[in-house]
Amino acid sequence: MNRKLVFYDVTLRDALQAAPRTPSVKERVNIGRRIKDIGFDYVEAGFPFASEYDFQTVKELSSNIGGVVAFGRATKGDIDSSLNAFGNNKPILNLVSPVSREHIYKNLKLDFNTYLERMEEIFDYVNKETSKRGGNYMMIFEDSSRADKPFFEKLAKLAADNGAYSLTYADTVGIEMPRTISKKFSEFRNYADKKVLHGIHTHNDLGLATANSLEAVLNGADIVQTTIGTLGERAGNCSAETLIEILRQNKDLGIDVDIDTREYEKLNEDISDTFGISVPFNAPIVGKNAFTHWSGMHQNGDRKANLYRPVNPDHWGGEVSYGINSSSGSIGVKHVFSNFGIEIPESKLVGIVWRIKELSGELGRPIRSDDIQSIAREFELI
Ligand SMILES: [Zn+2]
Repeated sequence: MNRKLVFYDVTLRDALQAAPRTPSVKERVNIGRRIKDIGFDYVEAGFPFASEYDFQTVKELSSNIGGVVAFGRATKGDIDSSLNAFGNNKPILNLVSPVSREHIYKNLKLDFNTYLERMEEIFDYVNKETSKRGGNYMMIFEDSSRADKPFFEKLAKLAADNGAYSLTYADTVGIEMPRTISKKFSEFRNYADKKVLHGIHTHNDLGLATANSLEAVLNGADIVQTTIGTLGERAGNCSAETLIEILRQNKDLGIDVDIDTREYEKLNEDISDTFGISVPFNAPIVGKNAFTHWSGMHQNGDRKANLYRPVNPDHWGGEVSYGINSSSGSIGVKHVFSNFGIEIPESKLVGIVWRIKELSGELGRPIRSDDIQSIAREFELI
């Protein structure tokens, strides 16, 4: 039987903390609502203790939709701030705690035992406070990849025994590989009772965020944290679009995705504008070039039998286009001209193709619509 993977979006937190623009609360609420509307299960709306924008975004969004999560450290101050942001709405808190020796001993200047004693009090507090408001709390373990294993196990078990709804493994610095994460994630799942849900959060520093998240999912992750468009700290997080497409194309994996992606490109574009980050030209699925064919061979194959399009643009609100430059051939040129209402007779086709190659070289760029008009005039087609 297929299982459903829970999609947890962190665009408004992990991606926004690395954005050049500071969007208004209204803009953040708009993005959060749209991400939730297309079927994401959770939207991490911000870090209320860290900024008033985040506080107000959590407040506003949780007043209107369910599945809103507030991020914070595992401290009483952060917990109270998040609870206040939710007001009378159902609170879902995601608390972050480090699990590596360096973080505990050097950064926090504590020892493992003292830290565990403190965390027991924190878990007890957050569990009581969220439960009595009809909500719950989740735990995400910072730098899980470099964790001190016995300590990590104790902390994960402690959280699960104190009512945590889910435990998330975070490859915070993006250093895992599929083969390392499959082993470590399987061990992580055995730290605590199987009743608690397990999540995965990956970063793309080595270009492996999606591969690592997929591997964790195949090793039993129930929840996957993603962003739209690979945005996020440094090289970004696992992108929702790549993981969704992989799961859709590989039905034998037995994992259902219940997200309506037909307007996804538009959503991605609006997030880029709102955050002040341009979408890479060749980004998978959401890049401007993701469904564009340039080379004569590819254009020919595409026209004849759709040979070079592994992803259906309709599923993502994108469309196929042909670019013409010095690499293009007669099929593509004919097709592009015809899109402009200009039919090229066979007798002139070869001449026009060579003229395009020459012009593209002279201009040092692809052929644009105004060039098409001038070539058409030159060859007396209009
Ligand atoms: Zn992160």
